[in-house]
Amino acid sequence: DCLRVCCGGGCLASGAQEVVQLLREEIEQRGLPLRVMSTGCLGPCARGPMARFGDRMILQGLTPERARRLIAEWDPAEADPIPRSSALRWAEGDHFFQPQRKIALRSCGLVDPERVESAVANGAYAAVVQAVCEWGANRGPQRILDELKASGLRGRGGAGFPTWRKWTAAREQQQTPKYVICNADEGDPGAFMDRSIIEGAPHDLIEGMLLAGFATGARQGFIYVRAEYPLAVQRLQLALLQAGELGLLGENILGTGFCFELDIRKGSGAFVCGEETALMASIEGRRGEPRPRPPFPAEQGLWDCPSLLNNVETYATVPGIIRAGAAEYLRQIESGRPEQQSEKHPQSGSRGTKVFALAGAIRNAGLVEVPIGTTLGELVYDIGGGIIGDKAFKAAQIGGPSGGCVPRENLNVPLDYESLQDLGAIMGSGGLIVMDEETCMVDVARYFLEFVQEESCGKCAPCRVGTKRMLEILERICAGQGRQEDLDTLIRLGELIRETALCGLGQTAPNPVLSTLRHFRHEYEQHIHTHH
Ligand code: SF4
Repeated sequence: DCLRVCCGGGCLASGAQEVVQLLREEIEQRGLPLRVMSTGCLGPCARGPMARFGDRMILQGLTPERARRLIAEWDPAEADPIPRSSALRWAEGDHFFQPQRKIALRSCGLVDPERVESAVANGAYAAVVQAVCEWGANRGPQRILDELKASGLRGRGGAGFPTWRKWTAAREQQQTPKYVICNADEGDPGAFMDRSIIEGAPHDLIEGMLLAGFATGARQGFIYVRAEYPLAVQRLQLALLQAGELGLLGENILGTGFCFELDIRKGSGAFVCGEETALMASIEGRRGEPRPRPPFPAEQGLWDCPSLLNNVETYATVPGIIRAGAAEYLRQIESGRPEQQSEKHPQSGSRGTKVFALAGAIRNAGLVEVPIGTTLGELVYDIGGGIIGDKAFKAAQIGGPSGGCVPRENLNVPLDYESLQDLGAIMGSGGLIVMDEETCMVDVARYFLEFVQEESCGKCAPCRVGTKRMLEILERICAGQGRQEDLDTLIRLGELIRETALCGLGQTAPNPVLSTLRHFRHEYEQHIHTHH
């Protein structure tokens, strides 16, 4: 029997480490046949420290005091050894877990991220064995691409480009060497999806990259991860070592002749290095500045060689698709969902699941993975448990500083790539900040613009100068010195920057301003008129 205690970032901050220690001591003292395992993120970070017993039983708010009582009351003779009345039990009517479908997060909260045996027991590397050994070098790569195409998987890092197309483009390049790169430079304020996957299930990322190497013909991969994520870096280093010891990395993998090396490169805190061309420049040891595209990385990427770039969530999703097969993967996601909930945008090419980091004024702040097409309302009210203090929901900022806000009227909008774009927001990498009725939307826009202004690399004028001018106007408005014509200037400048900036950072920088102006123009006007 095993008690899994979440030691993800949120739970560590609320004292999970101490709880693990204490549980082990108390269990030993009582001589119970019970093991304690530290796992990655279980999800509802705000209610931590969290733990899980067996498949279904979830415990919350496991303070040292309650942990001690839990072990004192533990009844090993019962299949359900925790007293029914225990306040630790996750309420049965709570909808946090039920609507979720965990694919990218399938191992988070289940396995011990520091023990490869634990990951393997949960299915890690089964997809690699299947593709490399059973399908083989002749059929395997194409079969992986076919499964990806059938799954409808699109890049989960922001732009949502169909994954199979990217992988096919990299495979079709004749030039060698080729590289597989993982963008783990997660920098959006409030986002912790990639971090949680790496900290909780590093082998799933490694497996996804192995499959990418096999499918595209690359023999070398790099994981570009933020240095501000020391635990993620440490777990990845350990996982790489373990995978190497199992013969899953290096020369002649599993005796098949397939070779793949994987290394870590640490970023140094520049947000712009999350942009793919800047990221590659940084790996090459140059200054992390974007360059124009084309040429696209699939043709000329790292050291001018064909390169495949995806983010952590995308790679971590792939093994789940390959192992189950695309059809079964899609069936698992849709099964048990009411018909209308899986209704999508008419032109939707959005399928699968998306991980979101819920933050802000929401009760169940934490990490969730839901079928694409789940509505914002379900996410905020069912899974998220509603707004803190029962205040009214005002808007959600989706997609971080590149995204936009979705207001209350659109709570029934399905979260898919197209519907969000229609609203002037983007799916982005999955940061979702919830704001209540007391939030000033002009202030929100200013915050995000200030962020991108500081992070602009300065290479091109529209972003370097344009965002500065926009920020000055916003500051003026917030200080009560705005003018009505400022609003048109903001829109004109925003559109100009969007069309002329060199890279994604600049092109999307005006989004928070433009989308708050679209949905909350009256708040801007209030700022302007109250002070005149
Ligand atoms: Fe640098 Fe901004 Fe231009 Fe991108 S858009 S290259 S971040 S100045």
